[in-house]
Amino acid sequence: MIDVLEDVKKQAEAELGSVDDEVSLQNLKAKFVGRKGVITEILKGMKDIPDSDRPRMGKLINETKTFVEDLIDNRLNEIRDEKKRRSLYEEKIDVTLPGRGMPVGARHPITQVMEEVTAIFERMGFEVAEGPEVETDYYNFEALNIPKNHPARDMQDTFYVSDEIVLRTHTSPVQIRVMEKRKPPVKVIAPGKVYRCDSDISHTPMFHQIEGLLVDEGVTFGDLKGVLTEFVRLVFGEGVGVRFRPSFFPFTEPSAEVDIACMICGGKGCRVCKNTGWLEILGCGMVDPEVFRSVGYDPDKYSGFAFGMGIERITMLKFGINDIRLFFENDIRFLRQFT
Ligand SMILES: [Zn+2]
Repeated sequence: MIDVLEDVKKQAEAELGSVDDEVSLQNLKAKFVGRKGVITEILKGMKDIPDSDRPRMGKLINETKTFVEDLIDNRLNEIRDEKKRRSLYEEKIDVTLPGRGMPVGARHPITQVMEEVTAIFERMGFEVAEGPEVETDYYNFEALNIPKNHPARDMQDTFYVSDEIVLRTHTSPVQIRVMEKRKPPVKVIAPGKVYRCDSDISHTPMFHQIEGLLVDEGVTFGDLKGVLTEFVRLVFGEGVGVRFRPSFFPFTEPSAEVDIACMICGGKGCRVCKNTGWLEILGCGMVDPEVFRSVGYDPDKYSGFAFGMGIERITMLKFGINDIRLFFENDIRFLRQFT
């Protein structure tokens, strides 16, 4: 039996030498010291050993078992160390590789132009006023001389929250709210989001406007022309042709639309300007006396002008963008061009 135990030790050492993964090692452990393993089988043979030899043989068998178990444990530690070394080597970090850059954010082109236009009017002495985007019918229409039967109130254009509540279709209600609170002189601009039920290459259901209002004694159409001509010069550059074309708005009289000379064709006529040589950029006019009466101003004493423009349109003309929807698709390749 002593020889058998010596053989077991040698066999275990030999087989362990070729084991290099944990699964094979577990199999080997079962084979030698498991419940059905070689050493267990030898223990079963103890019943044939004379009583006097049993303590000595039992001790030898246990020593053999411990020997084999230690061999297996040592090998297991070696295998684990090797695995760790390999993974450390394979996963090592190359500190000489260039780092991953943090992309730099930028303001949206609409925000940029909004801020630019706001800054221009602030330098002219206008202050910024704001109002609610969910507005009452009275402020959005009625007080602006747009009666119930006016086409601008058609369901196709306006988002109605209820019969008397709308999403504001323009920033003009801010003018009414300001005039209700203050006496002239008033000199404000109202930038903000507005909503209309419309969507195509040049319309989106939400867009941005800036409106301006100046009320005082003795304000004339000449003042309006001066302010807006200077504005065009600052936004689109020196020497750009400007014209005031008669138009109609319910809340101004007389009313005009302001065109600039087409910057694509230089006024010769092209697809963008529909062969007119001119591009419309904003609407304006002298505040209608009816609007003054609705806020309690005396139209015989005060006069004033108002103007309003779509920021998306100004931005499109300024940068030569041909589809308004690009502003809201958030395609990073588009937006990056404005950083
Ligand atoms: Zn043109």
